[in-house]
Formats: sequence, C-alpha cells, structure tokens
Amino acid sequence: MLDLKDCDLEGLKKLFLEMGEPAYRAKQVFQAIYAQGKTDFETISPLPKSLRQRLSEVAILSQLVPSQTLVSNDGTTKFLFTLKDGYCIESVLIPHNGYYTLCVSTQVGCAQGCRFCLTGRLGLKRHLKTSEIINQVIWARSFLKRKHPWPLRNLVFMGMGEPLHNYQNVLRAIKILLDPLGLNFSHRRLTISTVGLVPQMLKMSQEVNISWAISLHAPDDDTRNLIVPVNKRYPLATLIEALKRMPLPPRKRFTIEYVMLKDINTSKDHALRLAYLLRNIPVKINLIPYNPHFSTEFKGAGLEFERPEEREILSFQQILQNKGYTVTIRKSKGADIGAACGQLDGK
Ligand code: SF4
Repeated sequence: MLDLKDCDLEGLKKLFLEMGEPAYRAKQVFQAIYAQGKTDFETISPLPKSLRQRLSEVAILSQLVPSQTLVSNDGTTKFLFTLKDGYCIESVLIPHNGYYTLCVSTQVGCAQGCRFCLTGRLGLKRHLKTSEIINQVIWARSFLKRKHPWPLRNLVFMGMGEPLHNYQNVLRAIKILLDPLGLNFSHRRLTISTVGLVPQMLKMSQEVNISWAISLHAPDDDTRNLIVPVNKRYPLATLIEALKRMPLPPRKRFTIEYVMLKDINTSKDHALRLAYLLRNIPVKINLIPYNPHFSTEFKGAGLEFERPEEREILSFQQILQNKGYTVTIRKSKGADIGAACGQLDGK
C-alpha cells in the first residue's frame, strides 16, 4: 500500500489528480497529516466520506514509535526505532537553553566508511524512505509536546547515513519539513551535513534553501584520504570549488565540521593549512574532539583513534581564531548512552 508520507505536496497533488480528485484535496490531506497531526483518514473531516473510504483502501499513514528510549545524564535522549524489515535506526534529541535539536538519520548504516565513525563500520544496509525520515521528526516533536516545555527548533541531518547519498527521499523530506502547510520548520533551522558528495551538493543547493555543514576533518588530501575515503573521489580542491559556487543567502555561513583525532589532524601545521584552505569562504568552524567508542566490537578495525589533550584542542582553536575565524568546540552530549557524534550504530 502506498504511504502518503512518502510524498511531498507536489507528489500528493499528482496522486490525487491520477485518482480523479481535484488538487485542493491533496492540500487538505497534506495539512491534516502534518499541521494537524492526523493519523487516520477517517478523521480528516473536510474530505467526503467516499474519498476517506477509498484512501483507507489504497493508502496508509505510517508512524514510527521507538522500541527503546535512552536518556543521558545531560538530558540528551536517544530513540531507537525498529523498522518494518527489522533494521534499526536512531535519532538523538539534544537539549539547549530553551529549545531542542533533533539529529535525524537518513540511511540504515552508511556507505561512506569514515574511519572514526561507528555507523560507517556497518556499511550501507538501505536508504530510508521519506516517511521514515519524516516520522523521526514527528515522533520527537510529539514526545517533547508531552514531556517538555521546550520546542523542537533545529533539525540536523547528521544521524546515521550520508543524506546526499539518499538524495530523492531526503529532498522530499526537506520539502515537507519546510512547507508552511507541512511541518513548517525554518530553513535557517534545518542543516544538511555532508561528507562532500559534490554533484549532489551543487544540485540540492539549487533546489532548496537550507543550511550546510561540511564534514571536512582535514586540510590536505593526504590526511583526508586517511580519514574520509570519499576524498579520493572528490578531493579538497573540488570540494572547495563547490563551496564557492553554492548559493548562500546574505549573512549565512557554511559550518565546517572538524573531528579532532590525536596525532592525525591536530598539529599547528594542520591548523594553519586549514586557515589557508578556507580563506575567502564564509565559514564557521566547529571542532569535534573525538568520542572514544564504548563498543569493543570494532576494536582493531580502524576505530582506534584517541581524543587529543585539552591544551591541543584549545591551541588549534586559538590559531584559527587568530586568523579571524569563528571557532566553536562541540561539547559532546549523550556520550554515556552512545548518542554522541560517530557513536550511532543502531543498537
Ligand atoms: S561520518 Fe557520516 S558519512 Fe561518514 S561514515 Fe559516518 S555516517 Fe557515514
């Protein structure tokens, strides 16, 4: 059966026209699902009874309910969702002062194989459907409404998977999230994080206005090849050229993510080369000191990195700040429940 949550508004309109129904019916259904949170065709009252009946025979409105919810000492909450085919994915709700950010998954596993990342060790099992992406957000929003006074304000596509590798489903999900008749998130509050799939970056930046985080992690190809295998396909010069070509609204900047791995990419020379590489590009830099993994399962399989000393992290930051960059150090949240960056493994 067709899941209507796999369609954005345009897709729904097409579907309703094919069913011989006027396009405005699609708008009514779209609004009922997302703005009013309806989960059953029977309760979508503007629709005639015959259409409600027909929809319930040919379509469904799927939902995701977590099979496990873990809450960290710092308030970070990890949801584990078991999908229909038995695969598991995770989303992480991160508290800030007065609002929450949801870290959303887009694939089961990931094909990119970044060396420091537990998800990457799983390999790609499959892409998530649009509905599976959207339902993570719908669940988190309703969870917060029931339990917390703070709203879900920010969405970051930084959970399991490389969003741009699942291009069409992610694009449809973004359209539903940004649509004022849909989930109505601000484009300033929705960030796609990519390891640097250049053609898809260029394409998506033409299609939707969102914020971008680039997982750079190294200032030169030799170092990056070691950490991020996709660099061999899209080396730094190609990636930097793409950033220069991508449209960016006034006052918006790219976020450059830089995972700090002791003795790999944290020297003074790395910092100076990073500063040089990013010259003339509007960026802010987010340093992510490496999170050691809890799992012993992958020991000896390329995850044996170490977190740099505090003084190394601060000195790296200072060098970049002296060159005029805005540099934050990500405070790792949810590490005690395996919810921090690079720790998501669907368990
Ligand atoms: S860091 Fe992101 S892109 Fe790289 S393997 Fe992990 S999930 Fe995939």
